[in-house]
Amino acid sequence: MTRLLAAGAGLLLIAGQAVAETPAKELFGGAKLPSRTEPAPHGSYAKGCIAGAVAIPTDGPTWQAMRLSRNRRWGHPQMIALLERFSRDAASLGWGTGILVGDISQPRGGPMLFGHASHQIGLDADIWFTPKPSQPLSPQQREDLPFTSMLDKSKFLTVDSRRWTDTHARVVMQAASYPQVERVFVTPAIKRKLCDTWRGDRSLLGKVRPIYGHDEHFHIRIHCPTGAAGCKPQARVPSGDGCDKSLAWWFTDEPWAKPKKDPNKKPVKPRPVILSDLPKACAAVLAAPARPAEEAVLGSGMAAYSAPMAVAAPVQDIEAIINGTVLPDHGPMPQPRPFP
Ligand SMILES: [Zn+2]
Repeated sequence: MTRLLAAGAGLLLIAGQAVAETPAKELFGGAKLPSRTEPAPHGSYAKGCIAGAVAIPTDGPTWQAMRLSRNRRWGHPQMIALLERFSRDAASLGWGTGILVGDISQPRGGPMLFGHASHQIGLDADIWFTPKPSQPLSPQQREDLPFTSMLDKSKFLTVDSRRWTDTHARVVMQAASYPQVERVFVTPAIKRKLCDTWRGDRSLLGKVRPIYGHDEHFHIRIHCPTGAAGCKPQARVPSGDGCDKSLAWWFTDEPWAKPKKDPNKKPVKPRPVILSDLPKACAAVLAAPARPAEEAVLGSGMAAYSAPMAVAAPVQDIEAIINGTVLPDHGPMPQPRPFP
């Protein structure tokens, strides 16, 4: 029932109370297409949504999108453009014939039914540690191809030297080299490996951040786009290469210890995130009419959505939409233009 409601436009007005209490991941997980609005991230990487997202084409000259059934190849146009650029650069570094693109965001961003705390505002993307093979993968192969870990599972937090190559290092550091990239997340084992072996620009190492997981893929996060008023930036990466005690901490017991339970405390089930926990604008993003898929795929020389010069709806309109007093204005249809 909920999913049916979430699929329809104007659900706020139809569903009222039910939507208010529905976990936000069901609402956003049910959206099949982006909103037909200006591209705009709202909120933070782990608590927000995105208006006017575009999709990376499933196939490009130097990339393939994976796990197509998840419908998570949507992002801010700047993210999609960066991925296309990165895919070319990776290929020219000898990374197979390009990159395999994992999850970016859902069509309207937001929390997901499974996986990922972040990836909510179209500014995060996962890239496989497997290069794109020369033979294109079929849609079924993209569902089934297993991930390959870069870790030697017989040891504690150690890169598998049989799998990790200099090219892996160069590809990760290439991702970190773009000014629009804010952070690149990898397992602490890879960060340590780079600290020990990277002979290029050490200042870029600071952007490469150790985190749980991320041994089968790495994660590229870009800055809030200029002028994106609703986008909440993350604290700046500390200066330095990060090959310091903050990295050493990951190799202690502390980050891996089970959280201590208080036997006197009743376990509380965490309340799921609901729509009102997200930025107010996310209700309007969810309620806005959909952009058809053929308009919303960006790049690869295909006709793509290009933002008109006009400014987005004034803020008071959005407030009114959220308060349910007016129907969302569809606005002028954006003109598709060829993407360079
Ligand atoms: Zn990720």
